[in-house]
Amino acid sequence: MEKLANYLGGRWTVGDDEGTTIKDAILGTSLARVSAAGADLPAAYRWAREQGGAALRALGHAQRAALLAQVAGVLQQNRDKYYDISLRNSGTVKNDSAVDIDGGIYTLNYYAKAGATLGDASTRLDGDAVALARDNAFQSQHVLVPTRGVALLINAFNFPSWGFLEKAAPALLAGVPIVVKPATATAWLTHEMVKDIIEAKVLPEGALSLVCGGSEGLLDPLEPFDIVSFTGSADTARRLRAHPAIAERAVRFNGETDSLNSAILGPDAAPGSEAFDALVREVVREMTVKSGQKCTAIRRILVPQAWYDETAQAIGARLAKISVGDPRNESVRMGSLASSAQRANVEQGLAELRGACDTLFDGSAVPLIDVDPQVAACVAPYLLGARNGDHNALVHDLEVFGPVATLIPYRDTHHALELARRGQGSLVASLYSADPHYLADSALALADSHGRVHAVSPDVAKTQTGHGNVMPQSLHGGPGRAGGGEELGGLRALGLYQRRAAVQGSPEVIAALAARHAGATPR
Ligand code: NAP
Repeated sequence: MEKLANYLGGRWTVGDDEGTTIKDAILGTSLARVSAAGADLPAAYRWAREQGGAALRALGHAQRAALLAQVAGVLQQNRDKYYDISLRNSGTVKNDSAVDIDGGIYTLNYYAKAGATLGDASTRLDGDAVALARDNAFQSQHVLVPTRGVALLINAFNFPSWGFLEKAAPALLAGVPIVVKPATATAWLTHEMVKDIIEAKVLPEGALSLVCGGSEGLLDPLEPFDIVSFTGSADTARRLRAHPAIAERAVRFNGETDSLNSAILGPDAAPGSEAFDALVREVVREMTVKSGQKCTAIRRILVPQAWYDETAQAIGARLAKISVGDPRNESVRMGSLASSAQRANVEQGLAELRGACDTLFDGSAVPLIDVDPQVAACVAPYLLGARNGDHNALVHDLEVFGPVATLIPYRDTHHALELARRGQGSLVASLYSADPHYLADSALALADSHGRVHAVSPDVAKTQTGHGNVMPQSLHGGPGRAGGGEELGGLRALGLYQRRAAVQGSPEVIAALAARHAGATPR
């Protein structure tokens, strides 16, 4: 069985222990082994900083953007292979693999295009020059320059392609070399993509390194100008924040963690209205895409109390039509969870949540197609109900990372917003209404506790991009429980990898600075 190699210090090496075996999520058969034991991480990070950092900083933004376009081209050529890996390792149907694979390539292409507008300078101006003395005799201009460190990109198991590329694109465009650490359970796809990029020789040596397998000692060699961009559970984030690299050496840390996202039905959106139908469609999509293994998935559905029963029936009727099983069977709409460990996690969380809620749609009654239920990591969808959201702490706190959501009634708009905020900071909330004033006011009221608010009115029913879809143009991340991080949001994403400094000097010095950035789109 293949042992996935690590690309460190410009060489492919395999770990020197047995490692962890990763498996076919449906069949349970072994696919590959993953290990980083014995890897010389300090030397690898040094090589990335010195070789990769210098090479990337020698290029302008537009040249780095052109490299991203070439990387996207390489990945595009190998899409079929990636779909096959996804099906086997993650158990996903084609549409769900697309969210990960094509979503990643789209994000890369977006940054290739956006980066081309930044001109040939390796650095950026941040805002305009401001006067510090009378008659403008002394001025200040902020600049953004790539950090001279390495960016360690740690990813969650649910997006081995998109999770890698949505971090890699802004880091490389900013001029910073990356070390990619995929989650072990689904490392195969990331490994294959990195291998294809390295073999195509499109990036400068040292710009891209890969470490698969155990996370032991991963942060130990980090130095003050390095960066950690982490996606995963709140528990792991908490542990990483206490690591001396971050707590003592001030390594910059961005955390994207879990989130109890909500969908809110507006008080005007009665059953039968277009907004009501839009909520029902979106909830079912969010519960079933990637079997609910999306950090942005809808976990709580807040509806006016008079329409609680009708909403439960409408969502249940649609869930009943979702076929679950082996994605190799073309009639299957929803595949499996990523691993048997995830199935065990989901089953445990579901049991806890069911203890505190009513079961409105019972996934255990759904027949599984073409799978051995003892082996396959399949879990059918469950809709739960909590009639008293004020006194049910668990529904606002426990993220069951699978096809599970809870319906909660609210009394009035104030109450609905309060319930949404009980998530203690979320990645996204969506609102469904035909009233633009309700949508705008509620969006503003939720903006302090949510990274993104997605307003769905009937006029955008067909064009809206989806509650859970993370578009590179919009911010991804949320406060509090969601990790407190910020990613994407167009060119804002480069800010994590570039240091801001103020340059103070005479008007001639500031003019000379500006001349070095001529032709770039101002920030
Ligand atoms: P996880 O167990 O926290 O692992 C995340 C990553 O951290 C993995 O690559 C893991 O490696 C690594 N890791 C674990 N311990 C580490 C350590 N001590 N030092 C360095 N790295 C370490 O999370 P997961 O189970 O993969 O992902 C599920 C969670 O991610 C869910 O809660 C979900 O909500 C969240 N998520 C959030 C977002 C977002 O953008 N906000 C996106 C996707 C998922 P190993 O796999 O080798 O242990």
